[in-house]
Amino acid sequence: MNDQQAQVIIVGGGPVGMGLAIDLAQRGVSSIVTERHAQPQPIPKGQNLTQRTMEHFWFWGVEEDVRAAAPIPLEFGIGGATAYGSLLSEYNYDWYQRALVRPFYFRDNERLPQYATEAALRRRAAQLPAIKVLYGYSAEEFTQDDTGVSVRALARESGAMLNLRGQYVVGCDGARSMVRELAGITQTRNDQDMLMALLVFSSDALNTLLARYKGKSFLNVLHPDLQGYWQFFGRVDTGSTWFFHSPVPMGTKADNFDFHKYLEGIVGAPFDCEFQHIGFWDLRIACADTYRMRRAFIAGDAAHSHPPYGGFGINTGFEDARNLGWKLAASLNGWGGPRLLDTYSQERQPVFVSTARDFIANYIEDDRAFLNKYNPQIDKSAFERAWEERSKGASAQINTFEPHYECSHIVAGPEGGACSALGDHSYEARAGHHLAPRVLSCGANVYERLGDGFTLLAFDVGSECVEAFVAAARSSGAPLKVVADKRAGECADYGHGLVLVRPDHFVAFAGEPAGANADAIMAQAVGLQAV
Ligand SMILES: Cc1cc2nc3c(=O)[nH]c(=O)nc-3n(C[C@H](O)[C@H](O)[C@H](O)COP(=O)(O)OP(=O)(O)OC[C@H]3O[C@@H](n4cnc5c(N)ncnc54)[C@H](O)[C@@H]3O)c2cc1C
Repeated sequence: MNDQQAQVIIVGGGPVGMGLAIDLAQRGVSSIVTERHAQPQPIPKGQNLTQRTMEHFWFWGVEEDVRAAAPIPLEFGIGGATAYGSLLSEYNYDWYQRALVRPFYFRDNERLPQYATEAALRRRAAQLPAIKVLYGYSAEEFTQDDTGVSVRALARESGAMLNLRGQYVVGCDGARSMVRELAGITQTRNDQDMLMALLVFSSDALNTLLARYKGKSFLNVLHPDLQGYWQFFGRVDTGSTWFFHSPVPMGTKADNFDFHKYLEGIVGAPFDCEFQHIGFWDLRIACADTYRMRRAFIAGDAAHSHPPYGGFGINTGFEDARNLGWKLAASLNGWGGPRLLDTYSQERQPVFVSTARDFIANYIEDDRAFLNKYNPQIDKSAFERAWEERSKGASAQINTFEPHYECSHIVAGPEGGACSALGDHSYEARAGHHLAPRVLSCGANVYERLGDGFTLLAFDVGSECVEAFVAAARSSGAPLKVVADKRAGECADYGHGLVLVRPDHFVAFAGEPAGANADAIMAQAVGLQAV
């Protein structure tokens, strides 16, 4: 017997599960979220929220609340720096300047502890009647059949068991995902055999010592002994709270290691501090081999987990939620074609494989090669030349992280493309890429005019071709909004007369009316058929 029903059952109400529930609810889809913890866990991880994530938050109606909860104001500075040897050494440079890619996104980035982000998402979920959250319920198992999924959830306090029924289940249940395991989804893992410590501590003296890093909220030390693994400090607030992670010797426990002395060595000076948390995790990169098994999906850390190098975890998870949200809604609302749901895994899995290979592992290997080759104590001038070179390239890395879905089954081209995290930023509207914000002739940003479903941007094109798209959308049942304007000013930067934008604000098609077969393009975009 089923005690409760919804269209989608979401296991795990962490940031990704809550984001997905909100996305679905705003698209008219009901969900039940089972979350084993009554309150978000008080570890200040997942702090760096990208401009793209803030676009999701804007769409989900949570941006204002999230920004109000941020303990570090943007004007204080939320950039980063890298130092060699110790934080107070003579060698450091600016690193990971997200401001460089700001023009290609509609919102500013943000920085706040994950528990504050989760609290804001929980508040938003509570406003949406289509979402039912079962706090304190642990999902113990699920089964699937031809018509739906059944999930058994245990009330942790009372021991009572609830039976939940839905048409789909999504495991947003973190790195040890029960849904992934029971769905039979395998993972490819790259264990790095490193034990990592995660510390949260407060220290007034550290603020004074680090005065040289004004405007920097995360600091990374490259130490020759650590083979490219980072010693990472992040500000939790503008006061005295910090978090820190770094490899520690195997066998380290909270009570057999002098963390205070270890930190002083990494900073390069003595200082007082008080620990609030000492925890550990094993460093590995893992990716599920598929994100879908029939009616079961996985998203966020359930699908991919890795060290927090580059702040990809929570941001990648939110993009999973945004990608899956509209596709589940399209299928449940009757206009998603038979190919659509499979494109979630086809698009998102290779993007993470590329993120892991081309960014996370590459950072470690690149730093390792540098540290093995250069040492100021052996050849100071060679080291300083190489350090100077690195400092020039360090900020530019951010430009190449541009996840895209070129040649996905629901994207019209380009020939020879493939889904990847490696790309470049451009104002041009390119099939498979994120749409850059541009200002319309009325003064509004294109993002302020995009519809909840598809949007056709039409710049100085005849009404016939626009009507053809409207008719094609009507016959497939897909919601389509038309935004027409002059092909002038910033809109000319898109470089095309017609741009079909997906509900997640990626471009499905960009081209000119001549040769644009509206029926075929719409059919492909909703997963009905290949062009
Ligand atoms: C030190 C550190 C720093 C980090 N910094 C960053 C950063 O700057 N930027 C970034 O993008 N990422 C960062 N990350 C990664 C980020 O924290 C994770 O990627 C993020 O938490 C993933 O969210 P999630 O919702 O997928 O999974 P989780 O946060 O793990 O949430 C899963 C939820 O599911 C619940 N759950 C699990 N199993 C069940 C079950 N069976 N039944 C019911 N509930 C269940 C759990 O209670 C939990 O609430 C960092 C991580 C660490 C450790």
